[in-house]
Amino acid sequence: MIMKKIAILGSTGSIGTQSLDVARKHGYKVTALVAGSNIKLLEEQIREFKPALVAVMDEEAGKQLALAVKDTETKVTFGRQALVDIAANNSADIVINAIVGIAGLEPTLAAINAKKDIALANKETLVTGGDLVKRAIKQNGVKLLPVDSEHSAIFQCLQGVPNGALKSILLTASGGPFFGKLKDELKNVTVAEALKHPNWTMGAKITIDSASLMNKGLEVIEAVHLFDVSPDDITVVVHRQSIIHSAVELSDGAVIAQLGTPDMRLPIQYALTYPERSDCQAERLDLFKVGLMTFDRPDTETFRCLPACISAIREGGLKPTAVNGANEAAVKLFLDGKIGFLQIGELVEAALNAQPTVKEFTLDDVLAADKAARQLVFSLVKQ
Ligand code: NDP
Repeated sequence: MIMKKIAILGSTGSIGTQSLDVARKHGYKVTALVAGSNIKLLEEQIREFKPALVAVMDEEAGKQLALAVKDTETKVTFGRQALVDIAANNSADIVINAIVGIAGLEPTLAAINAKKDIALANKETLVTGGDLVKRAIKQNGVKLLPVDSEHSAIFQCLQGVPNGALKSILLTASGGPFFGKLKDELKNVTVAEALKHPNWTMGAKITIDSASLMNKGLEVIEAVHLFDVSPDDITVVVHRQSIIHSAVELSDGAVIAQLGTPDMRLPIQYALTYPERSDCQAERLDLFKVGLMTFDRPDTETFRCLPACISAIREGGLKPTAVNGANEAAVKLFLDGKIGFLQIGELVEAALNAQPTVKEFTLDDVLAADKAARQLVFSLVKQ
């Protein structure tokens, strides 16, 4: 296998550190790293992987890191523009985007416009800027490889499937820690309870999104963009064991699924080795240990974020950006103990309704819609 050169945006997070596990195992060259503010971990990563370039979003942290690694050959820059510059100007063949939130959108576009292939974990990129990203991918002739486990599963199931044979997608969901609970039982759940995901260990934001089913809503939008399907062709299936990572139904009725233990290193690795396969660190699947697998419908009455996202992608335009922006703001408020769990869904619905319908839009329009949704959330919470 040819030695890959990779850059990782969001290298200090859950996906970022697992991407570095994969790089370590396969001996990939890491050319650039980007993170928000965790300079302690970044310094360790610099000393182990010796990237030429590192960018830190937080300026003060970036300055401290530059001093701390003065004895190395790594160049450290900081601030939002530095992040975007590094995403484009590095010597990697493929850029892994594992930043959380809409903050990943501009670096993704910059990397694509610099003709880099993208391994995309940052689902908010496609949710908010899906049309812009797809246009840029086409114009630059680069590949967009999904890292999100469900989308990687769908992508894997589609290998060898002729064009036009995909009938529908079965998007699996664990159901999160609050599966089966009704509104009354969710009124007073704590942050700690919401952060207890049954199957996956992930960053805080996506863990809350999993508890509220916002994550599944974002993934429906992501799937619409990645696989050019209508939201009506996607069925969300609650599968508590997280063994089937998703499935596709083909025109002849055949259903093809991808199964595995819940470990992100397999989808990360597949995005990097595609179309090749090689040994992976993830634990192997033992179906006898799994025993039963169950399938349920999602409770869209209780978990309002999921239908809000589906409405947003049906209506299109900047509605997906609005629900995403409201959710990012609401999750932060929830994690800070300022709102209750159920308010997340209410605020996401409010943003969906407040966002006017538009057909054509630019990156600036996306950023403005994101800002407006966040402002709406803060104004509603202050009242
Ligand atoms: P984490 O919160 O664990 O990590 C986020 C990373 O992004 C960190 O490196 C963080 O840096 C960095 N970051 C945060 N804000 C900024 C910013 N404004 N500018 C630059 N860097 C920033 O998240 P996850 O790894 O869990 O998730 C990353 C993305 O992958 C999300 O979009 C998520 O939905 C998606 N995803 C995650 C999965 C998982 O298993 N974790 C599964 C599928 C998808 P710092 O640490 O310095 O703050």
